[in-house]
Amino acid sequence: MSHGAPPAYRGTVTVDVRLHGALEDFLSSGLRGTVLRRPIAGRPGAKDVLEAAGVPHPEVALVAIAGRPARLLDRLTPGDRVDAYPFGWSGPAPVAIPPVAARPAGEARFVLDGHLGRLAAYLRMCGFDTAYDRDADDAKIAGLAVAEDRILLTRDRGLLKRGAVRWGAIVRHDAPADQLAEVVARFGLADEVRPFARCLRCSALLEDVGREAIRDAVPARVQREQATFRRCPACGGIYWRGSHHRRMTRLLEATLGEGPGER
Ligand SMILES: [Zn+2]
Repeated sequence: MSHGAPPAYRGTVTVDVRLHGALEDFLSSGLRGTVLRRPIAGRPGAKDVLEAAGVPHPEVALVAIAGRPARLLDRLTPGDRVDAYPFGWSGPAPVAIPPVAARPAGEARFVLDGHLGRLAAYLRMCGFDTAYDRDADDAKIAGLAVAEDRILLTRDRGLLKRGAVRWGAIVRHDAPADQLAEVVARFGLADEVRPFARCLRCSALLEDVGREAIRDAVPARVQREQATFRRCPACGGIYWRGSHHRRMTRLLEATLGEGPGER
């Protein structure tokens, strides 16, 4: 179908929108694979039209307007055709799409919404700096993402649509282990996993401590069985390789493929 509104839409100004690949996750099943005819008023940006269709802007790797690469803020003209592509898209597109999602330069750091507590613990377990406060409201979470250049992970589209948020993703999976695998693949993190480097409670980097430092804090049996201990300098939590450590190692191996080991 070429440009020009069909009779049913006479009198309404529209643009055509096609979502590709993982961006179709944001459509109801009946609309996937179709061209969406969206009404517009004035000359909105591509970002406005995509977000009205349910797609948070940090999910979009590239938009094309009338087949040409464009910016999210570029304004649309009635009758325009907009194609939107996700990160990692390998099908036809006007330019190559990066295989993993965009992220800030340097170390990957995260902030998670209050419903993703298990994922937060798993990311910390993998050594990623992860801010998580189950009681934080949306404004605080988005503010932290912006102020500290953190990748915002959420299941709330409204939160990810906030204009100031630059990096982030809607977490698709339900099970925390699957969510971890999803995030590692999406942001290309497999080579940056450093198991058991951080406190699971507060995300601070752990320090090696001598036995005398934990004498009053750890049961005598554990002190007899364990050779080394680590302590969190922020909250005082003490860590050692107990049964919990073995369970977590198995989980990481199952989730991330071949054993990450302890580096
Ligand atoms: Zn801690």
